[in-house]
Amino acid sequence: MSLLERSVAMAEYEGFCLKCKTYGPVRDGKLIKMSNGRTRVAGHCSAEGCTGKISKIIG
Ligand SMILES: [Zn+2]
Repeated sequence: MSLLERSVAMAEYEGFCLKCKTYGPVRDGKLIKMSNGRTRVAGHCSAEGCTGKISKIIG
């Protein structure tokens, strides 16, 4: 694993969960490069018992 990949994997992103209406860290976040060149993180809400998904444009 390169240093860059490592830092990305360890980075913590926060987003707003529409399901429990809470702003918090994204669990299992994955970086997705979009066709327009921007990057978004997609993952799940970290609130206990919540299955909401969080998606956020980060770059
Ligand atoms: Zn939630």
